[in-house]
Amino acid sequence: MKRSRATTAPLITKPLFEAGVQCSKRLHLDYHAKRTPARSPRQEELVALGERLVDLASQAFPRGTDLKGVAKEDAISRTRDEIASGRPGALFHAVFQGGGVEVVCDIALVVGPNEVDLFEVKAGTFLKPRHLTDVALQVHAVEACGVQVKSASILHLEERYVHDGSRDYPVHKLFRSEDVTSRARNQLARVAEQVGSFQSVVDDEGMLELPTGTWCRNPLPCPHLERCRAEGPEHPLFELPHLAAVVESKLHEEAIESIDQLKISQNGLSSGQRRAVRAIQEDKLIVEPFVRDELGDVDYPLCFVHVLWHLDPLPRFAQSRPWQKLPYAWSAHRFEQSGRSYHRSFVSATQDDPRDATIKSLAEEIRDAGTVVVYDRGWDERFRALLEDMPERKTDLRALLGAPLLELGHLIYHGVYHPDFHGMFDLERVRGILGAQLPAPSGEPIEGLDALDDDLTDEDAAADAYQKILAKRTRSTTRDKLSEQLTAYVRHRSAALVAVRRLLLG
Ligand code: SF4
Repeated sequence: MKRSRATTAPLITKPLFEAGVQCSKRLHLDYHAKRTPARSPRQEELVALGERLVDLASQAFPRGTDLKGVAKEDAISRTRDEIASGRPGALFHAVFQGGGVEVVCDIALVVGPNEVDLFEVKAGTFLKPRHLTDVALQVHAVEACGVQVKSASILHLEERYVHDGSRDYPVHKLFRSEDVTSRARNQLARVAEQVGSFQSVVDDEGMLELPTGTWCRNPLPCPHLERCRAEGPEHPLFELPHLAAVVESKLHEEAIESIDQLKISQNGLSSGQRRAVRAIQEDKLIVEPFVRDELGDVDYPLCFVHVLWHLDPLPRFAQSRPWQKLPYAWSAHRFEQSGRSYHRSFVSATQDDPRDATIKSLAEEIRDAGTVVVYDRGWDERFRALLEDMPERKTDLRALLGAPLLELGHLIYHGVYHPDFHGMFDLERVRGILGAQLPAPSGEPIEGLDALDDDLTDEDAAADAYQKILAKRTRSTTRDKLSEQLTAYVRHRSAALVAVRRLLLG
């Protein structure tokens, strides 16, 4: 195996390559960052999940050496020596430096002297274009070291895998292997070109002048978003709802970077985008008349419902699948034609599978509802995904699927805008802005609207609390406290739905 030649060109690691694919400014900032930006708790979870999956996948390769945690130079030389020897066996977290790139390969299977099969482990249930680029980058680096890649495969979670509830995962059923050798090879020329271009970008200070765009949140929010927003216009183009990349790049070509520069009659804008332009330029709240019409056109009993969902990339309960969303809590504010109203909620506060009790109680609650108001989309899709695995709850699931839904968030997205939305339509933001812009409506106080526990105020904190409820070591007193906090949170969310409708109806 060749030793890579000393070079003064900057070395592009996989995280830097991914940064460059997102945006040249991000690549420049990341390269010169004194410290790696701290990961958010969600990013930490994803990293831990990735490590767990590599550990699981490695069980399919009985003879192996793991280089995780080995000092980099040592890991590079051990990778080189093991592969040069041709001794059959697997290397986990093998490190290669070549072709201007440094990569860590999840699994490199030695199949001959300086010959390997590569396996990249991915947590998703299907291949994405960026996975192929990732594998192509690895092939680029490995072959620049004089090692031939005989095959390259992606091991990703099998969508159809149904767990049996045990602590063990049958690796051959949990993962699906897809040979991507030729698809990755097709990308080699482009990857080599990108590496060259990224090497020239890292020292180009002109990159700091680049504008923001829809790419700032795609595929994941960029860690520099706050900084770039502060440096740019108050209302950058990417605040426009559903801005298509082709329209965006055309506007950038015309040196338009801010919504303030647009004309309402600008070609290529949708009606929702024009509404946003008008709201920003006239600095006012716009509520289209159809919003009030639809909010008034409801049947009783009127139920405002919020459901909390637990997401397990690796299924833990019997009859559950990778990345399936499982309902574990709900809250309903119910109003009857007679004027009677009440609130009910449910939280699964044990380690057990939450689906059965949650679905049964929620179906009972909404069975005779005239209209069910929810905020986010996805109700049908999530409950439908449970049908096959819960035949004993089919009737309840069908009742939930047949609920007469009014998706409030969707309605707002298509008919309401205020400059302070900044292109985001989450319930708390919308409620706060409408509350500041519209006269306070009359009516009874809404139960639970202002009774939020300071320790649990958003969906991420709710997800963390439920993880703790599921954890074996959590004490019962802690579980009770978490259950109370979750009850207050989910009640607050359905109360917020009532508040938003009242504000909009006036
Ligand atoms: S926030 Fe946007 S413009 Fe700024 S570095 Fe990130 S991707 Fe680039």
